[in-house]
Amino acid sequence: MVKVFYDDDADVGHLAGQTIGVIGYGIQGRAQAHNLRDSGLTVIVGNRDDTYRQQAVGDGFETRDIADAAARADVLLLLIPDEIQADVYRRDLVPGLRAGKALVFAHGFAIRYGQIQPPDDIDVVLVSPRMPGSYVRDRFLAGSGCPAFVDVKTDATGKAWQRALALAKAAGFTRPGVLHIGFAEETELDHFAEHYLYPTIIGAIEAGYRALVDNGYTPEAAVMELYGSGEVGEVLLTAAKVGLYTMLDRNASPACQYGIYTHKDLVVTDGNRRQIQTIIDAIKDGSFARQLIADQRQGHQRLRQLSDRAHRSDLVASEAAVRDLMNFPSSG
Ligand code: NDP
Repeated sequence: MVKVFYDDDADVGHLAGQTIGVIGYGIQGRAQAHNLRDSGLTVIVGNRDDTYRQQAVGDGFETRDIADAAARADVLLLLIPDEIQADVYRRDLVPGLRAGKALVFAHGFAIRYGQIQPPDDIDVVLVSPRMPGSYVRDRFLAGSGCPAFVDVKTDATGKAWQRALALAKAAGFTRPGVLHIGFAEETELDHFAEHYLYPTIIGAIEAGYRALVDNGYTPEAAVMELYGSGEVGEVLLTAAKVGLYTMLDRNASPACQYGIYTHKDLVVTDGNRRQIQTIIDAIKDGSFARQLIADQRQGHQRLRQLSDRAHRSDLVASEAAVRDLMNFPSSG
């Protein structure tokens, strides 16, 4: 049975008197820095001198170069993109790593794929939220929180678990609960969602849109039906709370249920199942990680090409039209 920790299992006091260095002020860095500060911790931000850093200054954080922040902090949260963490670690973090510090990852990538091999005299922990930073912050402010995975790879001080759980509590993660799974499992599960689940959802929307428009349906209406109304998001949120099929019992008409139950196994073919296994193999043997790092070294050329092509899709124009036509609340 997986071990879960809640607020009562954690004590933010274990970080009293320690300086938390948030390295990177992007999607996770900004949200976590705010939550940790609101929970009473001493937070400094390490970032290159650019717009992210100016934002941290504007938000009232003591802000320094990465190497300086890393040297000063007792607990280091490495919140920069995974594929560049090893370079930044070697250049800016290693010189200031003294025994007894803690190195905290929000994703196990650098450890799982051997990019970073920390010394044995520091705590190495994983505190990995399962949502983007904006939700980490919004839920914290709303009094709830985002679930997370936690792990300890090295317990050099004998207090690594207390520190990890204290951070998780201060960020709001122990409010719903944090699950203990290993760095490797967290990394592989996260990649599986990114290589299978999200591409399936996004690919199905794109293919569905194309088929509907080719069959003469109104582009804006097709976007609205497939995802533009926000229905899919709401329905999946309910599924997370009450269960996938109970959500259908409660919200779907007989016609809707009949349509879903008679089609759900048809759309996942044996070819898809073979593809799923290929995806898992590429995660496990590290070939995806190698590809990602190679692309980062080319300035993310391939990523940019793929992203540019997706953004040029006529679906994007249709969804912009839907947003203009409808009175939706704006959101990040
Ligand atoms: P971001 O892409 O938002 O990171 C941006 C930050 O990294 C900025 O501060 C940026 O500063 C800095 N940065 C980028 N390139 C460099 C570089 N070459 N050298 C130094 N600093 C750099 O990262 P995320 O917040 O998305 O991810 C951070 C960690 O959190 C990762 O391990 C990720 O897997 C994990 N995570 C992310 C989630 C998410 O919601 N995105 C969810 C759960 C975990 P600069 O202005 O200098 O470029």
